[in-house]
Amino acid sequence: MHNDTLSDRFRRHTLQPEEAQRLVLEQANPLSIEHVPLFEAWGRRLAEPLAAPHPFPPFRRSGMDGYAVRAADLRDATPERPVTLIVVEELPCGVEPARMIGEGQAARIMTGGMVPDGADAVVMLEATTTTADTREDGEHGFVHIAKPIASGLNVADIGCEMRSGELLLPAGSIVQAGESALLAACGQAVVAVVRRPRVAILATGNELLGVDQPLEPAKIRNSNVPMLAAMIREAGAEPLVLGTATDDRAETEAIIRRTLPQCDLLLTTGGVSVGDYDVMVDVLAQADVRLLFNKVAMRPGSPTSAATIHNKLIIALSGNPGACFVGFHLFALPVIKRMLRVQDPYAASFQARLGVPFPKVNAYRRYIRGRTQLEAGTVNVFPTGDDKSSLMTTIVGADCLIEIPPLKAGLEAGQLVTAWRLS
Ligand code: AMP
Ligand code: MG
Repeated sequence: MHNDTLSDRFRRHTLQPEEAQRLVLEQANPLSIEHVPLFEAWGRRLAEPLAAPHPFPPFRRSGMDGYAVRAADLRDATPERPVTLIVVEELPCGVEPARMIGEGQAARIMTGGMVPDGADAVVMLEATTTTADTREDGEHGFVHIAKPIASGLNVADIGCEMRSGELLLPAGSIVQAGESALLAACGQAVVAVVRRPRVAILATGNELLGVDQPLEPAKIRNSNVPMLAAMIREAGAEPLVLGTATDDRAETEAIIRRTLPQCDLLLTTGGVSVGDYDVMVDVLAQADVRLLFNKVAMRPGSPTSAATIHNKLIIALSGNPGACFVGFHLFALPVIKRMLRVQDPYAASFQARLGVPFPKVNAYRRYIRGRTQLEAGTVNVFPTGDDKSSLMTTIVGADCLIEIPPLKAGLEAGQLVTAWRLS
């Protein structure tokens, strides 16, 4: 019995990371829609695309404090022979013009004011002088302008920023500052957002103590669950913290089965290797479990596994903090993003120069925690430290994963590598 299990553990079918990503992503469905007030929508993902319901600006808008004029009237203006226009109206913001600007006329206008019909340019206040002498039809005085102006200058045309019906934000957009401004300008006081995925997290390991517990011999504190909870929140999802299970199959399995109906995705850490106490291997071997994979050609985290139980997805991450971090980004984050209706759920990649040599040779592709630095127009990436999977200090400050291909020789400093942005 024990030998059978052991050989099963070693006889694993190895998938490439892309293939494994595709398999978990297939299990992710976009979640339902909720409606929240705009002021509570920060950090949420839009459930629907935002299209402009009207052009913006919705009226011809002045970009300057000054005078709305007909450019043709100023064609011959010079400092020696300034053109004098009759000011027929004053247009503060929010006031609809009552009069059309005719030949020889102008309107005093403020930034954001509605440019009256007939006018086709706004001369800035600083380029004008005024006199208040009253003539019959000049109740607002006169303005003198000493140079010509191009038609259209300082006037924002209707729809110059957004045309009516134009796609402004795709579904899945995260609501931040710019998105909030667009939603408000389009009158979306209530925003359709995607329900936050509920992501359950369970750590396994007899050696794990609660964060609040004093150290004991041979034990460490459970650091993966708080790390995962933070990443889940950063992704716009809601962590459901299950704490720690011991390395007991029945206990671990009971917690998992009890939790699955209440969550959209369940993450475990630890217990996926070939050790005698690797409980997740046994949990995922149960009859009603559909195993998607249990080995990925990558470092760290090659025993990362995934399965479904009654169509609920479980991603079993490695217990090593570095591997757990990488596994979350490669497998769990795209699933969460798909649930949140993000169109391209994978991390963005970019090419960069490796800042230091990487002499280590490996049969598998390696993802190292890295940091991006711009130097004289070149994007360089540096490992945040030793890339051992057991380390968590090298997670701090990482803004990318540097991909090291499985090469016979190591990489030299300055060589071009692919890196993945950590959002
Ligand atoms: P495992 O994947 O269970 O074989 O664990 C691999 C390594 O990661 C061991 O050194 C564990 O003690 C450590 N580890 C497992 N789970 C956690 C956790 N939740 N927090 C911190 N370290 C862990
Ligand atoms: Mg363990």
